[in-house]
Amino acid sequence: MAHLDALHRPLLDLRISVTDRCNFRCRYCMPREHFGADHVFLNKTDILTYEEITSIASSMRPLGLRKIRITGGEPLIRKDIALLIGMLRALDSQLDLALTTNGILLAKHAKTLKEAGLNRVTVSLDALDEDMFKAMGDTDHSPKEVIMGIDAALSVGLGVKVNMVVQRNVNEDQVGAIANMAHERNLVPRYIEFMDVGTTNQWNMESVVSGEEIRQLVSNSIGPLEPVDPHHPSDVAKRWETENGQQVGMIQSVTAPFCGDCSRARISANGSLYTCLFATNGNDLRSMIRLGAEKVDLTSAIKAIWTKRKDRYSEQRNEHDQPVSKIEMSFIGG
Ligand code: SAM
Ligand code: SF4
Ligand code: SF4
Repeated sequence: MAHLDALHRPLLDLRISVTDRCNFRCRYCMPREHFGADHVFLNKTDILTYEEITSIASSMRPLGLRKIRITGGEPLIRKDIALLIGMLRALDSQLDLALTTNGILLAKHAKTLKEAGLNRVTVSLDALDEDMFKAMGDTDHSPKEVIMGIDAALSVGLGVKVNMVVQRNVNEDQVGAIANMAHERNLVPRYIEFMDVGTTNQWNMESVVSGEEIRQLVSNSIGPLEPVDPHHPSDVAKRWETENGQQVGMIQSVTAPFCGDCSRARISANGSLYTCLFATNGNDLRSMIRLGAEKVDLTSAIKAIWTKRKDRYSEQRNEHDQPVSKIEMSFIGG
């Protein structure tokens, strides 16, 4: 049975951050000035074990959970991540299991992930141009490695989505190239508005390229776009398509917020439950588990937290001052 929050939104999706570390330093997510050599990441003992993650997921099943996304930080740098996928799959053969990755380690892991029971991957790719890719990710890796990951995932039968964050005066000229790369593989590219997550990424409204502007850029490259009816109201990406059926998705959390349909809970790498990407406080489930809580105790704690949930940050973004202590995306899970 779906369990509703205070604004009548069901708890359907769980995003689990399995690490706060990453092999990239994307300027819009983990800028090196803040996430450099002296940054203090979580200790191994602070991070939930795979057993603890599985207990939390299992305790949400009676509340109506249908989908789990593994994320981070970069989830593929966590040791033996396919073991976790297998443990989650063992909970329920019907759970929709997805993972979000920057794709660098995907070619290496695609087959084991698929065999463990993963359904889908979302691969983040902000540029095909080598220099732009390296500058945005503050990395020496090449976009070719990400493409190899995408192709490996496709070849083993994983579903694949491609996400591109678009920033003004940075990578707008890559929008068409990403669309072409995705369409050549029969994939739907999804464009994400730059969001004000955390406090370190120097976000400002001027650097947001609106979904409307992105659609214009896409149209310039692949032709005029018409809206497509959504598959499900909780789909974060609204779809558009060309006359010959080439689709693109738009995730417009800044200019067209979708809080009214938000059915997502998040677990940070250290085991706190957050009811919004922009939350300032989490609910410590790790302590409950380490003090011996049973599955029923977790279920009732999560139920009580969700019942009170009223978050709708993106819809209220312009109504109040920015909170000072927002959680970083690499910590809470993108
Ligand atoms: N490391 C993995 C990756 O990059 O796919 C998973 C974690 S990452 C935090 C998840 C997603 O959040 C990525 O698609 C990334 O582009 C997106 N993201 C991070 N910071 C963002 C921001 N400020 N605005 C919009 N999207 C952002
Ligand atoms: Fe790492 Fe993903 Fe954040 Fe980039 S967006 S720094 S790849 S966690
Ligand atoms: Fe959901 Fe919070 Fe994003 Fe609104 S701002 S869609 S409530 S995560």
